[in-house]
Amino acid sequence: MERLDPNVVYHFSHPHPLYLSNSQSLYTTSCSACNLQPHGWMCSCEPCSFTLHISCTQMPNFITHPSHPIHPLTLFAAPPYPGGSFKCDGCGLQGTGFSYRCTTCDFDVHMTCATNPLSLAHQSHPHQLNLVYYPPYQTKGFSCDICRRIGSNHWLYRCGSCEFDAHMECAKSANNRPSPHLQHSNSSPAPNNVNLHQYQQQQEKQEKEQQKQRRQQQKEQKKQQRHQQKEQRHQQKEQRQQQQEQQDQQPSERPHGADNIGTLMHKMFQGFVEGVARQVGETVWRCVCGGD
Ligand SMILES: [Zn+2]
Ligand SMILES: [Zn+2]
Ligand SMILES: [Zn+2]
Ligand SMILES: [Zn+2]
Ligand SMILES: [Zn+2]
Ligand SMILES: [Zn+2]
Repeated sequence: MERLDPNVVYHFSHPHPLYLSNSQSLYTTSCSACNLQPHGWMCSCEPCSFTLHISCTQMPNFITHPSHPIHPLTLFAAPPYPGGSFKCDGCGLQGTGFSYRCTTCDFDVHMTCATNPLSLAHQSHPHQLNLVYYPPYQTKGFSCDICRRIGSNHWLYRCGSCEFDAHMECAKSANNRPSPHLQHSNSSPAPNNVNLHQYQQQQEKQEKEQQKQRRQQQKEQKKQQRHQQKEQRHQQKEQRQQQQEQQDQQPSERPHGADNIGTLMHKMFQGFVEGVARQVGETVWRCVCGGD
């Protein structure tokens, strides 16, 4: 991208110069990169009905993403497939806008999926939800704890310690309200004696630490139980759904040993990914937030 005139943008995704314009005045077409509605100033080619958010013109040409740490991903303005669409390896849906792609592995993700936050909060759950790249269940699916529907073997948001799973879209929906327990219940009065106050705080802190440790131990025990229960529930749910849909396909049986290896690999991979995720998250977010 090159800027000769401050009001004209040249972007590799379009053969003509794009002109800065205010979305409210002109355009009803959605952004060709992210398919979302126009907002703020847009970079547009009017004769072609082609328009991009300013932030979408500023996406980096290459990123590394924790979902595919072995290769860098390249920004594609149009999918290189006949028919002009791709299947997103993140959300599983068809895509037509900008994508990040590993040409070596034919790995494609929506630009918007690649820029999903690696963790977020949702009012339906008290803990942070982390983006994970496949459900950790043998069934390769999950049931969403927000909309109660089945989710497929794709990216999801998840609180691992509570086995709370959610579709990406569900976790991102109506996500601007703070969760109730994060709100201040009441503000404590200013202490007369600062030292006493500090001492009390220390005592409380120690007590809380101990409670926390006890809770953690209990949690660890329950966690294993819950995981098994949830997997069973999910299996039942999926069976019901399969019966309803009367699918002919039989789920393939894996030998027990393979599942253990899978779990181990998953754990190792997860550890690695979390390290990379922090770095990449920052990089991606600088790029995303840099523009608008
Ligand atoms: Zn856009
Ligand atoms: Zn044009
Ligand atoms: Zn996607
Ligand atoms: Zn690759
Ligand atoms: Zn859902
Ligand atoms: Zn939780």
